[in-house]
Amino acid sequence: MTSPANTHSPLEVDYLVIGAGAMGMAFVDTLLSETDATVAIVDRYSQPGGHWTVAYPFVRLHQPSAFYGVSSKTLGTGAIDATGPNAGLHELATSDEVLDYFDRVMRDTFLASGRVHYFPMSSFDDLATAGSGSESPGTQRFRSQVTGAITEVVVRRRVVDATYQNVTVPAMVPPRYEIADGVEVVTPNALTTLSSPWARFTVVGAGKTGIDVCLWLLERGVDPDAISWITPRDAWLLDRARIQPRKPDAPQTGDGGMWMAGALQTESIDEILLGFEAIGMVMRIDPEVTPRAYRCATVTRTELESLRRIRNIVRHGKVRRIEPDSIVFDEITLPAHPDTLYIDCTADGLERRPTVPIFDGHRITLQPVIPCQQVFSAALAAHVEAAYPDDATRNTLCAPSPHPDSAQDLLGYGIEIAERTALWSGDADLLAWLHTSRSVITFPDAVDPERQARMTALVGQLREKFAGILAWDAAIV
Ligand SMILES: Cc1cc2nc3c(=O)[nH]c(=O)nc-3n(C[C@H](O)[C@H](O)[C@H](O)COP(=O)(O)OP(=O)(O)OC[C@H]3O[C@@H](n4cnc5c(N)ncnc54)[C@H](O)[C@@H]3O)c2cc1C
Repeated sequence: MTSPANTHSPLEVDYLVIGAGAMGMAFVDTLLSETDATVAIVDRYSQPGGHWTVAYPFVRLHQPSAFYGVSSKTLGTGAIDATGPNAGLHELATSDEVLDYFDRVMRDTFLASGRVHYFPMSSFDDLATAGSGSESPGTQRFRSQVTGAITEVVVRRRVVDATYQNVTVPAMVPPRYEIADGVEVVTPNALTTLSSPWARFTVVGAGKTGIDVCLWLLERGVDPDAISWITPRDAWLLDRARIQPRKPDAPQTGDGGMWMAGALQTESIDEILLGFEAIGMVMRIDPEVTPRAYRCATVTRTELESLRRIRNIVRHGKVRRIEPDSIVFDEITLPAHPDTLYIDCTADGLERRPTVPIFDGHRITLQPVIPCQQVFSAALAAHVEAAYPDDATRNTLCAPSPHPDSAQDLLGYGIEIAERTALWSGDADLLAWLHTSRSVITFPDAVDPERQARMTALVGQLREKFAGILAWDAAIV
């Protein structure tokens, strides 16, 4: 799919966006709404949607559809699920629905605007240097993966890197452990085409993909005792019931001040996390095990109960090698049933990347500004690009926030949300924009200097008190 009239070379555009995943799409959508800019979008895949293009068929969004996608078009209908483990909560789009949605956005909004030129199946190979020239990004080149033809684009304003998050799902990478002959290791994608049964299933990886696979096996009637789950680290999980769109007439429920005040009374990260658990903010699979990870994974309490039916949870670190009759870890080798299907879920969908300034000369590098809220962050970057005059201001409003990884990052995650919210809510225009965005965060209804000062003070106290724990923050920026 390309824009019909403009495939001749050299094309001239204001922005060249590399990546038509959710972040690139959200950025372009807001840019089109708020400016008269022209855009070229280049992507390796044959359709927009990024990692959803290669995801396992039974994947769904982890958060309500209402929070996902581009600002100009709602994803889904806002329905509440009546059945299944998400019953009573806002719908979660399937990968097919996400892809259909992005296809419609591309055709009906982007290409129909006449301002977007889309180059699927095309690879941009100069990401490291694109946009680093001093005068203007100038002529940029990308290559068709089908014909090998090189297309030249003259870029007037910026090159936008919407690939920096490096989202990796199992179908993209081989397992990072050795596999002996005769051992069957598959990606979750292969599960829906299984044609013969297995005596046992071993799920390798404890992230959200591993959770999805365990739930899929249980829902298909696999005996929980036939499932082994290799979990190098237990993680704190978010309760999806608490991450739901606010009803239009619902009152504001708290602003984070309470948890921050509570956290200031504690002396250790474990104490803080147990406090979060006590108020239902986070959950864990095994109450006897203290999680050491936090990766933004979201489940319902029904799903949590299902996962707890799996008793054979293997906590011996990372797998190094799988033999037909054993699994080798660094410090132990465990026996394994020869008739086992291994499902590899070890790809890192939320790689913790070094942060770089989002706005930098002729380059924009899209990154989350609220942890784990990528589409919101990309749309905000486009709004800030359009509405603010200089990169210093833009970078202050859009400080990048790396994906959380360890349990202690949950504190940093909470602080960063409070910090950003306090900063943004001092700007009435920005606040009005935030209320139209696809955001999980609840923003105050109006500028409230008193509230802002209180939040800023609490954030400052927390940063000071837990400076050691939050050191990752400074180290990585
Ligand atoms: C299973 C799963 C479920 C998720 N659920 C949610 C959810 O419910 N809510 C939520 O907010 N987030 C969710 N996320 C987070 C998700 O990662 C982001 O929301 C978002 O989809 C990431 O989009 P992206 O554009 O950053 O990356 P990608 O989807 O990876 O898109 C990057 C694009 O860049 C292209 N590309 C890369 N390099 C090049 C190159 N050199 N030349 C040309 N093209 C290139 C790729 O082909 C790809 O299309 C989920 C993630 C996963 C893995």
